[in-house]
Amino acid sequence: MPLHQGPDASQPEHERRLALNPFYGAADPIGGMTEAPPRHQLPDGPLPPMSAYQLVHDELMLDGNSRLNLATFVTTWMEPQAGVLMSECRDKNMIDKDEYPRTAELERRCVAMLADLWNAPDPAAAVGCSTTGSSEACMLAGLALKRRWTKRNADRYPASARPNLVMGVNVQVCWEKFCEFWEVEPRLVPMEGDRFHLDAETAAALCDENTIGVVAVLGSTFDGSYEPVAEICAALDALQERTGLDIPVHVDGASGAMVAPFLDEDLVWDFRLPRVSSINTSGHKYGLVYPGVGWALWRSPVELPEELVFRVNYLGGDMPTFALNFSRPGAQVVAQYYTFLRLGREGYRAVQQTSRDVARGLAERIEAMGDFQLLTHGNQLPVFAFTTAPDVTSFDVFDISRRLREQGWLVPAYTFPANREDLSVLRVVCRNGFSADLAGLLIEDLSRLLPELRRQSRPFTHDKAAATSFHH
Ligand SMILES: *Cc1c(COP(=O)(O)O)cnc(C)c1O
Repeated sequence: MPLHQGPDASQPEHERRLALNPFYGAADPIGGMTEAPPRHQLPDGPLPPMSAYQLVHDELMLDGNSRLNLATFVTTWMEPQAGVLMSECRDKNMIDKDEYPRTAELERRCVAMLADLWNAPDPAAAVGCSTTGSSEACMLAGLALKRRWTKRNADRYPASARPNLVMGVNVQVCWEKFCEFWEVEPRLVPMEGDRFHLDAETAAALCDENTIGVVAVLGSTFDGSYEPVAEICAALDALQERTGLDIPVHVDGASGAMVAPFLDEDLVWDFRLPRVSSINTSGHKYGLVYPGVGWALWRSPVELPEELVFRVNYLGGDMPTFALNFSRPGAQVVAQYYTFLRLGREGYRAVQQTSRDVARGLAERIEAMGDFQLLTHGNQLPVFAFTTAPDVTSFDVFDISRRLREQGWLVPAYTFPANREDLSVLRVVCRNGFSADLAGLLIEDLSRLLPELRRQSRPFTHDKAAATSFHH
């Protein structure tokens, strides 16, 4: 698959001409009132700022409305005050700890708050950092697992042993990336029947002396379900008793690590389980911050090999950092601290409860329509997946996704992985800002479409790949 490529040679020359009339702002100070700036190479000269702004702005109008995007987990609304703070900080580089010591301090406080929230046995001893998102956090956590295993197996690696990582086939693509980039064998547990995520027995059965760790996901992007972290840990405890193998668990809490602590306090999934050595979350998902921030935490410095940590200058001393990037925006970290301060535990609980209530209510109403079967109900992540009822033959989930898109709604349809490739689903992610009112409008649109879809002779969406929105 090509990445972004150069110009499309088939495009006729005249279509590249842009008429810049005076409504585009001040007349071009250099040329006339029309311009043909090349789109695929740097123009020879400048445009006035207003004209450049308007051209870019107008082109972006065709992007979807992020608030109607029920495919993404990522925050699409923040308070104006958060926006102001972020614009005040957009020039701050997170890596310049010495130049921006207060930003560094806010990052440190966020790590401490998360260590406490996730019940680290000694929150002061837990170590962690901000990242650009969960993907980077997972790379770092995976690297720490691999390095710890490498050190334990210095006699066998790299000579003969090949490290592996055990996880469900439902993991987010970042774990496949981790395995590919850092040469670790992915050991994927397939789905079976009504089990759509990792289960404890199969996970333990796949582990051997080359397993660097097990990844448990809270919760799965495929259907919003939580994986049974405590059961997985218990199965690994039993494995250790039988075989002596001591396999650490990483919890990918990209979404759930900011939901479960507020809504499912009795669920034990975090550092209360001694086998959980690290946890990540996306600050920009249910952490409620605009895109660009994630978090990775380790139970204690023992879990994070010292040589992976680099030091940058900080107030004349040095400050440990662990990251793939060097430069990175500070604004998102500031916005995370603002949100923690602004909401507190009670505030987060209220916001996440609203999202869960909206998800559950919407799932119930969709089930009541009779044409659909729910896989999940929105009572773990505020996310649910559903498919068409067995007797529905005139349309499929891809038709629904395509027709809803005509109304502006992005509801992805996709096929499940092994061993449930026979199953295709729709998924709805309810986030802060997707109100009960908006959910009602979605139901109205769906109800209006259904009679038409029921009259079809068969499903109509041939290009299923095109109908399927990105769903991670
Ligand atoms: C979103 C997600 C990721 C990737 O996170 P980004 O913050 O988008 O990089 C990883 N794992 C899970 C379970 C996710 O939901």
